[in-house]
Amino acid sequence: MAKKQFKAQSKRMLDLMINSVYTHKEIFLREIISNASDALDKLCYKAFTDQSLGLARSDFFIELKPDEEARTLTISDNGIGMSKDELEENLGTIAKSGSLDFKQELAAEDIPEGERQAGAPVDIIGQFGVGFYSAFMVADKVTVISKVYGEAQAWKWESTGADGYTVSLAEKESPGTDIIMCIKPDSEQDSYSRFLQEFGLLSLVKKYSDYIRYPIRMQTTRSRPIENSEGKEDDAPPQMETYTEVETLNSMVPIWQRNKSEVSAEELAGFYKEKFYDFEDPVKSIQVDAEGAVSYKALLFVPAKAGYDYYTKDYQRGLQLYSSGVLIMDKCADLVPEHFRFVRGVVDSPDLSLNISRELLQHDRQLGVIARAIERKIKNELLSFQRDDREAYEKFYAQFGLQLKYGVLANFGKDKDNLKDLLLFASSDSDKLTTLAEYRTRMKDEQKDIYFATGDTAKIIENLPQAERLREKGLEILYFTHEVDEFVAQTLGSYDEKPLKSANRDELDLETEDEKTALKQQQEEHGQLLDFVKQAIGEGVKEVKLTGKLRSQPACLTAGGGLSFEMEKYLAAISPDQQAKAERTLELNTEHVVFEKLKALHTSDQGRAETLAKILYNQAVLMAGLTLENPAEYSRLVLELL
Ligand code: ADP
Repeated sequence: MAKKQFKAQSKRMLDLMINSVYTHKEIFLREIISNASDALDKLCYKAFTDQSLGLARSDFFIELKPDEEARTLTISDNGIGMSKDELEENLGTIAKSGSLDFKQELAAEDIPEGERQAGAPVDIIGQFGVGFYSAFMVADKVTVISKVYGEAQAWKWESTGADGYTVSLAEKESPGTDIIMCIKPDSEQDSYSRFLQEFGLLSLVKKYSDYIRYPIRMQTTRSRPIENSEGKEDDAPPQMETYTEVETLNSMVPIWQRNKSEVSAEELAGFYKEKFYDFEDPVKSIQVDAEGAVSYKALLFVPAKAGYDYYTKDYQRGLQLYSSGVLIMDKCADLVPEHFRFVRGVVDSPDLSLNISRELLQHDRQLGVIARAIERKIKNELLSFQRDDREAYEKFYAQFGLQLKYGVLANFGKDKDNLKDLLLFASSDSDKLTTLAEYRTRMKDEQKDIYFATGDTAKIIENLPQAERLREKGLEILYFTHEVDEFVAQTLGSYDEKPLKSANRDELDLETEDEKTALKQQQEEHGQLLDFVKQAIGEGVKEVKLTGKLRSQPACLTAGGGLSFEMEKYLAAISPDQQAKAERTLELNTEHVVFEKLKALHTSDQGRAETLAKILYNQAVLMAGLTLENPAEYSRLVLELL
């Protein structure tokens, strides 16, 4: 019989299949099963529109038949079947639409060898439907025997791959299609035998095709203890017998396809734990049933804990993507934004067809629509979570709050408006965490700014000299204890038109006009003294000035310029070589007795005045949470003064 040649395009696709990498080969099963499911859909539809056929949906099935000895795997369906012409048309050529051009480009010869192994083309195999040809990834010969429903004659299509195919008459009793694959011999890189073993097949069906809506059956061999075996001693191990039974491997109805009201919280939690290998229930389960430009169902989960690798680059974000119950991609990163990368879940859309005759770009567009909707959904769910169950939200925040903060910072604050209301901060007003919105509602009428102070712990911040004046005025202070907090404030800039101002910087502007004028006068009056102090301290400070914001403390250190002390510490921690320093301003409290003392010494004993100036500076450094440049000298100075 004369061999017919594959069309040129198909031949290239075949080459691509045959040379694909190990991990992708297993998806052939998903592809063949999907085709069978489509064929069943078609006959199902026919039966639905023509009741006289007397077919019920429950008659339809897919069957796997591995034969380890013969090294064949047969996948059968009792679906619509293919005629001789259809066999030629469908299996002799790959999709006729323009979408193939895209794949061809990727598969073209000019892709370097290395990339061909691991890069784009194979990923397409992994992610999108490649159809029937994927059988050649695992088989060196494929035979298709098919009989169209309602016709008498069956046909056989056969091919060993790239060298063409034959079509001939065949015998087949019932309508439908058998795909018989001669599985390749095992090689050093690939164990093809796993596609002949019950367990291997079972796990692949579970992994990729669990929710195919028709039963996928396989005859399995099990063993069980023989009951009442005679003469058996009590403690002897039970005698076993093997038996076979036809098992349905897939669960058929995905939980996300069921009605919201039908699915219990326990079921959702159970599903989550099994699917995403977690021991703990999720803190939040979100069910989405969207219809519109793109219809989809989604089940999203917020885990209770950030896994050990969550904040490392090993963690991969993404949602499982299904198309009508068929797994397309295990971690589709495009479906969930980086700032919500802790969300796990599945998305299933019938609008994303597995069919390769669809444009890949189209997938992108549809994915984009879904991704945007999912992002909105997650945000709104987190907001209502925050409102309705604050305690649980705080637990969530302890795990993933940092991620949200990073999200505010990322891409120059592109997503800050989306995320700002999800943030929580400690505050001087209560021992509970607060949102910016809550702070805003508590603001006094005349309050211009939102105040925050930074420090390693709330305790340190509480004792900051600069914070005293704020507290005295009854102004609430947000406590920024995490190193990124200040960057967050800088990125946000303001909240609800109220600027965020740092108590650690010289930017509070709490004085009245009169106070300011008075301060300016004093500043001029004591100009000489201030110069003296600055010289005594030396390089450490940029400026020495008087302040009205202090109460019990004689001096404080504030940061000027673009950088704050916390940022300085943070930058030093992440890149120790970098010498980025915040500008230091020493502010002196004119109303403090120590200032009087300093003034007096400045005229009477300049040596002691210098010692006092240095001590004041070092104390201010300590209170700002910074480390002393020379602790030994500080100690000596204090002793000297004593
Ligand atoms: P796709 O499924 O993406 O169209 P395939 O290469 O997988 O591409 O299959 C090509 C065509 O062959 C299918 O569209 C279908 O018409 C036909 N086909 C494949 N498998 C079967 C089957 N088991 N029963 C009936 N038709 C089939």
